[in-house]
Amino acid sequence: MKEAYDVLVVGGGPGGALAAKAAAEAGLSVLLVEKRPAIGAPVRCAEGIGKDALAEFIEADPKWVSTDIERAVLVGPDGTRFTIGGEAAGGKVGYVLDRKMFDRELVWRAAEAGAEIQVHARASAPIMIDGKLQGAVIHQHGKTYEVRAKVVIAADGVESKFAKWAGIDTTVPLWELETCAQYVVNDIDIDPKANVFYVSNEACPWGYIWIFPKGPRCANIGIGIAGTKSGEGHRAKDYLDRYLAKEFPNGKVTELIVGGVSVCKPLESTVADNLIIVGDAARLSDPITGGGIYNAMYTGNLAGNVAATAIKNGDTSKNALMIYDKTWREGPVGKTLARNYAVKESFIKMDDKKLNSIVHSMSDLSIEDLSVKKLVLAIFKANPWLALELPHLL
Ligand code: FAD
Repeated sequence: MKEAYDVLVVGGGPGGALAAKAAAEAGLSVLLVEKRPAIGAPVRCAEGIGKDALAEFIEADPKWVSTDIERAVLVGPDGTRFTIGGEAAGGKVGYVLDRKMFDRELVWRAAEAGAEIQVHARASAPIMIDGKLQGAVIHQHGKTYEVRAKVVIAADGVESKFAKWAGIDTTVPLWELETCAQYVVNDIDIDPKANVFYVSNEACPWGYIWIFPKGPRCANIGIGIAGTKSGEGHRAKDYLDRYLAKEFPNGKVTELIVGGVSVCKPLESTVADNLIIVGDAARLSDPITGGGIYNAMYTGNLAGNVAATAIKNGDTSKNALMIYDKTWREGPVGKTLARNYAVKESFIKMDDKKLNSIVHSMSDLSIEDLSVKKLVLAIFKANPWLALELPHLL
């Protein structure tokens, strides 16, 4: 580890990896620090991503793709199913990744581009001089290093502390923090080509249960519920255990993970003097699905490029970095997050009767002749009360 770099990236997830790669490709000296001893492990993710989204950054590779997903199935509280797939879904649907291998591949590509990677290296405090960020204190193998950087990219995920240390309010209200539990379950009867989403305010309050296949008889089965709905005897894992006992009583569990997903609005500002915040650290996971891999990759890549331009121009002030914030916020990522936040706000308040009514109106549709527009119109036609709750979707 050297004493100074152009860019210091804190965190080796998809956001940090893409940021480090973009900055290194632009010719900057880059250090990426990851506090865990191994990139990508332990996995805290259901590992689903859309094919088109992934293709923007990397060509799919069987080394880190577990399953090719052809359809998505929405299951209502009473078990009514709505399936969407292929062209009707507006694309080629998605993959279930092997995040351990995927994250390593992304970081490897950053290293190939010239970035220095240090694992088991934790950023523990920012270096602030005259109120401005100048780098970070790094702990590694019992030693402490002071690393200076012209720009720090905070890619430290949902548990992010770096931006907060640098003076930015990153608080996620408890009711907007989904608490999640997920098992890898083997020896079960599933559709190995379908990602299943089960909604029910009783069985998974303010969240949903997912079944994402990892193989012909194996899946990530998980749940997210609002933090405020969690308590003794009704934690995410309790709800998940009840679901498994009912639906897959003979499944063999080989792994349990727990984690959090923010479903709040993005940070008010994702830049400060010499600082850019990306991915989950910037609260950019989708408020409806909780998905954040793509948004982390998108903002990481953008941050690396913006940092490069700012450093070349000799101005890394908040003002100069603001183009990063403006670009993602005003582009498709920001627009989708804003729309889905509004939709989430309505959906979480719906009881099972309303959720059943929505899924019933969807299940009546002919899948051969389906577009997103037709789907939304049909749902509104069958559920006129929705127009009051979700006027912005009309
Ligand atoms: P992360 O991937 O979290 O990476 C942050 C990294 O920073 C971590 O490796 C961490 O160890 C490191 N770090 C933290 N602090 C420090 C420090 N001080 N110093 C050094 N390193 C540090 N998204 C999807 O798109 N699809 C899904 O199916 C999906 N399922 C999910 C299921 C669950 C249960 C959970 C919890 C999340 C899920 N997500 C999903 C969300 C997805 O995992 C994240 O949005 C994505 O990983 C964000 O990438 P990131 O790079 O911003 O952060």
